[in-house]
Amino acid sequence: PDPHVAASGSLNDQLFASAQRVIPGGVNSPVRAFRAVGGTPRFIARAEGAWLIDVEGKRYVDYIGSWGPMILGHGHPAVLEAVREALGDGLSFGAPTARETELVEAVLAQVPSIDQLRLVSSGTEAAMSAIRLARGATGRNGIVKFEGCYHGHADALLVKAGSGLATFGNPTSAGVPAETVQHTLVLEYNNVEQLEEAFALHGDAIAGVMVEPIAGNMNFVRASLPFMKRLRELCNTHGALLIFDEVMTGFRVALGGAQSVYEKAVPGFVPDISVFGKVIGGGMPLAAFGARRGIMERLAPLGPVYQAGTLSGNPIATACGLATLREIARPGFFDSLAARTRQLVDGLRAAAQDAGVALSGDSEGGLFGFFLTSELPQNYGQVIATDAARFNRFFHAMLERGVYLAPALYEAGFVSAAHGDAEIEATLAAARESFALLGD
Ligand code: PMP
Repeated sequence: PDPHVAASGSLNDQLFASAQRVIPGGVNSPVRAFRAVGGTPRFIARAEGAWLIDVEGKRYVDYIGSWGPMILGHGHPAVLEAVREALGDGLSFGAPTARETELVEAVLAQVPSIDQLRLVSSGTEAAMSAIRLARGATGRNGIVKFEGCYHGHADALLVKAGSGLATFGNPTSAGVPAETVQHTLVLEYNNVEQLEEAFALHGDAIAGVMVEPIAGNMNFVRASLPFMKRLRELCNTHGALLIFDEVMTGFRVALGGAQSVYEKAVPGFVPDISVFGKVIGGGMPLAAFGARRGIMERLAPLGPVYQAGTLSGNPIATACGLATLREIARPGFFDSLAARTRQLVDGLRAAAQDAGVALSGDSEGGLFGFFLTSELPQNYGQVIATDAARFNRFFHAMLERGVYLAPALYEAGFVSAAHGDAEIEATLAAARESFALLGD
């Protein structure tokens, strides 16, 4: 008998019980605890290609991909090889390495809006540093963000709307002093009128506007073209910096990120500062922020804006990121990833329709979302107004059938290059059964 299995529970339950004794909630990042959907999180033993395998040997088609990084699927041979090779040379030096420059050059080759990039270890760190840079570069304090967009857990960004546009935000977490968010204004996503009002009231105090250009932290919501165009104009008029948080969308919705999607519709469109994470590290702790030279030169050691990191540009992480970026830059990679993702969303829509279940869905590149409602929501209020109990039943029906969706209706989904016809078909078969259970 397996020594880990308690008489009263499965191995998974036993592991979760042990974890909860010594780790708050049993997890090291809250969404993993399944609090939104209920039930017990699955402990994962290993992963291969598009599949997660839990500690009891059950297999799941993985639509989380470690929340974004695993765009090539798990255990891609070229990535593993690059990591193994880097391991032999040492884990960390705290001194510059050639591979950092190589990785940055690989990013710059795809993102024409930036001249220089600084590497860090998490999206939180990158977003926090981008805010400091925007403030340092403009000499202003004000920050605008949008309800439903997540930019990591830096104090100044853990904020919800105050009462009306005249007041700045309130903290969304205990331990964040109100003073820390007193310069952060929270607006509704896709609301042009509110944007106009906010700039009319506070325009000259705004250092930067941080936005997820396609929001992946309220399921999947695109910033509309008129909204994005007006945002760019208002930033220009008032001397505020437009900061694209592409931690989720960078190298995921297109090789050039969401900014390349907007540039296609509005030629010449560029953000001022870009924040990357997830895919850029290929599954290792690596993130980055970049801008044109004049802004980046404000950073230490050249300029007065301080920013640093013991493990920044880590040799294993840069090897992993570089190998990942090489693979996704191959001709046709994004065309086929986008087609695969559309195949999934179209299939879900058809399966729902056959079962008489309302569903809307959208995707860009390898990022997708779906809602159990007939119209795509345009902002956070509309997302959370959708039926959570129904989503939760669908989530568990799918999980039971071997499909691992994000365990909350306000999260996006991720498809990898390892998702093939067999995985999509298995997913849609599970979806047909699960939609039938939803009944009305
Ligand atoms: N920005 C966005 C858009 C994100 O999706 C996330 C993480 N999901 C972050 C920032 C924070 O990144 P990290 O979890 O690496 O700190």
